[in-house]
Amino acid sequence: MKDRVAIITGGSRGIGRQCALDMAAKGAKLVINYRGSQEMAKETAGLCKELGAEVLLVKGDVSKEEDCVQLVKAAVDAFGRVDILVNNAGITKDGLLMTMAEADFAQVIDINLRGTFLMMKAVSRQMIRQRYGRIINMSSVVGIMGNAGQANYAASKAGVIGLTKSFAKEVAKKGVTVNAVAPGFIETDMTAALGENVKAEYEKLIPSGAIGSAQDIANAVSFLAEEKAAYITGQVISVDGGMSIA
Ligand code: NAP
Repeated sequence: MKDRVAIITGGSRGIGRQCALDMAAKGAKLVINYRGSQEMAKETAGLCKELGAEVLLVKGDVSKEEDCVQLVKAAVDAFGRVDILVNNAGITKDGLLMTMAEADFAQVIDINLRGTFLMMKAVSRQMIRQRYGRIINMSSVVGIMGNAGQANYAASKAGVIGLTKSFAKEVAKKGVTVNAVAPGFIETDMTAALGENVKAEYEKLIPSGAIGSAQDIANAVSFLAEEKAAYITGQVISVDGGMSIA
């Protein structure tokens, strides 16, 4: 990954931060996006710099087209190209469908699904011109299996799979691969709010018997981001301790 330029959305914390750290360790130049957590984003950037990486921090909301265009422009202005895009930014707004506010449905779709579309669109011309690109989109086990109380989130993550496969077909001849990673239950801020009893219930659903770490996901992401993953495209790699086959 030496001197490859990687954009990571939602890189301030959690899975996005770990992806940034792994790519920094492998020699990539990083463009780290975040929406609100400036201090945590600075911390990620500092840790990546300690690993020897050049880093650009860019604040922006992936559900806004102008922010996505600006993010790609900032990367090209700073480093001249974009080789890797990790569409990691995501949120949850859980609730039962019957009582779910339309605004909560829309916001989750806007960030998780439309944001992924907007970022792929923003980066597409640059990657096609380069005849090189690695796009990794963050889906979820929930996008494959569904989950009571997460209709909006599951729909957004199932949509990410459709986007991934479709765009993979559109750019397969241009040296650009597009894959998705579908994490299972991973220990981050996103899952920290769930009580210990909910976590214990989830653990029972995981064949390996253990909750995953951000590192487990970053391992798969950085593999797909490498040059040698060239012949893998349009795939969904589940990293879930077997949850999706249980
Ligand atoms: P997290 O700890 O809550 O971090 C979310 C990241 O997304 C933060 O960096 C946040 O930025 C950023 N973000 C949120 N909305 C954004 C927006 N509109 N524009 C730009 N950035 C935005 O989440 P995580 O657990 O690391 O999850 C990362 C991805 O993996 C998400 O797509 C999530 O759906 C997916 N995933 C997670 C799990 C899990 O169990 N944790 C399972 C399956 C899939 P700020 O810090 O600035 O707010």
